Amino acid sequence: MLVTMKEILDRAKKDNYGVTAPNVQSEDTVRAVIKVAEKCNAPMIIDVNAFIHPDLPWFVHMIRDLVEKSPVPFAINLDHGKSYEDIMLGINSGFTSIMVDRSSLSYEDNIAQTKETVKMCRPLNISVEAELGHVGQGVDYSSDGSDHFTNPEEARKFVEETGIDCLAVAIGTAHGRYHGTPHIDFDLLKQITDVVDIPLVLHGGSGTGDENLRKAVKNGIQKVNLATELVVAGKEELETFIQDKNFDKWQLIPSFIKGYSDRLEHYVKLFDQENRAW
Ligand SMILES: [Zn+2]
Repeated sequence: MLVTMKEILDRAKKDNYGVTAPNVQSEDTVRAVIKVAEKCNAPMIIDVNAFIHPDLPWFVHMIRDLVEKSPVPFAINLDHGKSYEDIMLGINSGFTSIMVDRSSLSYEDNIAQTKETVKMCRPLNISVEAELGHVGQGVDYSSDGSDHFTNPEEARKFVEETGIDCLAVAIGTAHGRYHGTPHIDFDLLKQITDVVDIPLVLHGGSGTGDENLRKAVKNGIQKVNLATELVVAGKEELETFIQDKNFDKWQLIPSFIKGYSDRLEHYVKLFDQENRAW
């Protein structure tokens, strides 16, 4: 069934567990996510980047059709809406949630543009995720420092002024592959959860490590975005599969999907997300 992201995350916050938000890129990966969610009886957030499909309204329509037939709750979230055009396309495509990413702008501009998105989405019952501080790229990780981390007091004011449903925070994760060892600032996470009462989102879950992620979802993070690691797990499974020169050509894509799905299921269990469907 199709629900808003707010419904999924508010429950996760109340009962202290995490929700995986896998990035999908094709019908195969969408079906894989649905299969894992149903197998684990878990609510799930399907993350879709605006650039991932040449016909986004069709792609989201297809996802809606599949999840509406499922007994498990799903939200469909536009990941990193970078422009006004992205947001409008997202609304028109049928997302139940929109991420407005203005984290590269000044604090004031981030507030103003996030507020504008909330104003557009609220009457349509579309949840809004925004980002404060900035989650950078893994390739820059060792030189990035902590200047771009989320400031707790700014976060409190940001949430109050914008009326968003969940907030992506910068506490030491990065997108893509880490160059260096990830260090999560759990003291900062605690300072943020002390003053912000809406669900929190962690971008850059891939490669962050089981121990860090488990600790994060047990200490205030409700949504964890996963992209790189799922795709890499699929690639590795595929590489193993084609080592047999007589491989069955029809099993190429299923072997990729097996790697992707197994990795996702691992995180569903790690985040205590199993049997949380309603
Ligand atoms: Zn992200």
